[in-house]
Amino acid sequence: MSPVDGAGIGVVPGCSVGDVDSAVSRAAVAFEAWRHVAPGDRGRLLRRFAAQVDAHLEELARLEVRNAGHTIGNARWEAGNVRDVLDYYAGAPERLTGHQIPVPGGLDVTFHEPLGVVGVIVPWNFPMPIACWGFAPALAAGNTVVLKPAELTPLTALRLAELARDAGLPDGVFTVLPGQGSVVGERFVTHPAVRKVCFTGSTEVGTRIMAGCAAQVKRVTLELGGKSANIVFADADLEKAAATAPYAVFDNAGQDCCARSRILVQRRVYDRFLELLEPAVQAVRVEDPARETAEMGPLISAAHRDRVAGYVDGADVAFTGSCPDGPGFWHAPTVLLAGSPADRHWREEVFGPVVSVLPFDDEADAIRLANDTEYGLSGSIWTRDVGRAVRVARAVESGNLSVNSHSSVRYWTPFGGMKRSGLGRELGPDALHAFTDVKNVFIGTEE
Ligand code: NAD
Repeated sequence: MSPVDGAGIGVVPGCSVGDVDSAVSRAAVAFEAWRHVAPGDRGRLLRRFAAQVDAHLEELARLEVRNAGHTIGNARWEAGNVRDVLDYYAGAPERLTGHQIPVPGGLDVTFHEPLGVVGVIVPWNFPMPIACWGFAPALAAGNTVVLKPAELTPLTALRLAELARDAGLPDGVFTVLPGQGSVVGERFVTHPAVRKVCFTGSTEVGTRIMAGCAAQVKRVTLELGGKSANIVFADADLEKAAATAPYAVFDNAGQDCCARSRILVQRRVYDRFLELLEPAVQAVRVEDPARETAEMGPLISAAHRDRVAGYVDGADVAFTGSCPDGPGFWHAPTVLLAGSPADRHWREEVFGPVVSVLPFDDEADAIRLANDTEYGLSGSIWTRDVGRAVRVARAVESGNLSVNSHSSVRYWTPFGGMKRSGLGRELGPDALHAFTDVKNVFIGTEE
């Protein structure tokens, strides 16, 4: 269904448990060959996969605009991110080195052994990048992958599987299995030949997956929810902080695990900040996401829009932006004033274009409020005081922080959450180790 007008765009049949079992069997067979492909050749195949993505970038982007309602600018970035992540990890097979450790009486070396079949489970909010953050390092490290896209957004993942095949990846190395979480996803958890589950989605489902994986001591990476703080100190460049704050939360219509959905403002500049924020929110262009000028599109579904609207009902609305009338799952960017940190919209992940604002008194108060959440994924700190920036960045319990900026994700730096926002890290140089086990080998040399 198109989020822009609610019109049907197609039906993708879901896989059964039997389909998953057959695919996992093929992936297990393919693993024995794939792990032994020479490192340079494995890298070359991943580079060819990246080139296929690059050659079809506009097609993939347009598909995501139709299926997920992403703005065309964002969707191009997302397809480009798949290409870049594949290119980055294409350099990894030749660099997956172990250690040589000094020991008496012999030689001690470590190997990073691939795990086997890896199951990647993806949410609907960033279908392409999140899939790729799992499958690219997993494949580079010598694993084979079965991937389940979200029920609402399977189209780009299915196209990526075709592009992988066209690039020459052998049969069974990368298989996309659309279907229900309770069927396909659960089977990844229970199937003994799936050696790791790499899950991105809600904290609720992630907790369940972790419990299920425990039964087989199955490896797990979890990228879960967030309720990130954007902390604005009185000494900050207030104009810049206010001008950028809407994009830090309304990008992808707020359906972003890193959304800075709690704005904390030092009390003595609170009124001034809101004065500056209002025109910035009203300037956000919410329109047909296929237009080049679009900055925000609709929400993913009618049910999700109604859920988001439920947080606004009865809340203290400071001001809103605008959105188109008529069909489609639209919700205007909305700024809420939190009466206290107990407010539901302040505590829960809304996952929509809604941001809550609360004043704070001093640095200690800001840190206390920022950490008063079960989540710890992302966040921003605005101040001109370098010492304070470092102190606060060290004190906020969150995996990804930015100072005087809202950047969260670069494919060559680590990404992931603290507390209930997740377990393990994706991207960057160390992600490969999340798809390998260390093996230590001692070779006696005594006569
Ligand atoms: P979700 O948890 O409902 O679904 C995510 C995926 O899990 C889907 O593919 C779904 O089919 C599957 N699934 C559902 N039940 C399952 C089960 N019992 N066993 C196995 N798989 C199952 O999440 P969603 O609504 O699609 O996505 C939104 C959530 O994802 C938000 O909470 C958001 O914060 C989070 N998210 C986190 C990150 C991150 O990197 N930390 C990134 C994007 C989204």
